[in-house]
Amino acid sequence: MLEKELVFDAAHLTHVGQLREVNQDAATVDMGIYAVADGMGGHAAGEVAAAMAVESLGAVIRMAGVEDLINAVKAANRAITERAEKEPELKGMGTTIVAMASYVDRDVQYLGLVNVGDSRGYRFADGTLSQLTDDHSLVAGLVRDGLLRPDQAEQHPQKNVITRALGIDPNVEVDRWVLTPVAGERYLLCSDGLFNEVSDASIIEVLSTFAFPEDAVAELVDRANAGGGRDNITVLVLDVLDPDVDDREARAAEALANPPAAVAEAAGTPASAPKVDDDTPATRLRRLLGRKKGNPSDGAK
Ligand code: MN
Repeated sequence: MLEKELVFDAAHLTHVGQLREVNQDAATVDMGIYAVADGMGGHAAGEVAAAMAVESLGAVIRMAGVEDLINAVKAANRAITERAEKEPELKGMGTTIVAMASYVDRDVQYLGLVNVGDSRGYRFADGTLSQLTDDHSLVAGLVRDGLLRPDQAEQHPQKNVITRALGIDPNVEVDRWVLTPVAGERYLLCSDGLFNEVSDASIIEVLSTFAFPEDAVAELVDRANAGGGRDNITVLVLDVLDPDVDDREARAAEALANPPAAVAEAAGTPASAPKVDDDTPATRLRRLLGRKKGNPSDGAK
């Protein structure tokens, strides 16, 4: 028997952004599957592809190894490809997918991570943000080959061109990682609408300050919109917790008492209307730090 199984707490949020008319991203935190998909294709096609990818992952009933995630992604790829062939209005649809799920193998707990496309998975631990996934994009390939500097990639006119997606190649190659979860660390899954608008430093600040996943994702989406919101934005934060030790209320209260200067300053950026329906330290922090100016009716307490 595994002595102590770590538990997970996750939240996700998706937003259309400031320029697009439809949101073609999708995400899930249901049934122990954590996934973000960024669909592409004309009309409603991208939405269909992203929803199909996320749904296929939800069909993983028993997670026994990272192979189960890989097989679900490959099944999604086949389903999207076949449907695009049958339905002319969906021709050319595709989607990225980045997904995680936990499993226990011979008394050891693991987190499987899979990726296709240019959505990303990060680990945040001890104040350090590490990108785990490789972007399957034209510019990331040029950077890896030494033909482009990372700062040039950020400005590149073709930075949205991806080199791998579901719905394009019937034999899609799926990147995979097997991670060992540690209590206290957080994972971030997101579409490019987040990291193209929000700097790593800003992401680190949010993940350090907002103790609860639902507050962290709301703040990250607000910052992406404040940064321009030129694409759909999808953010998923997954916390790894010791079931006997949850100090997040205390950390939220501490952040409320001593907000980092930069976070307090960021509270001045436009924010979407909040729903403040309770008065936990986390929601007070959110109201104080992120929501005050954007919503005068709620900020007057
Ligand atoms: Mn996108």
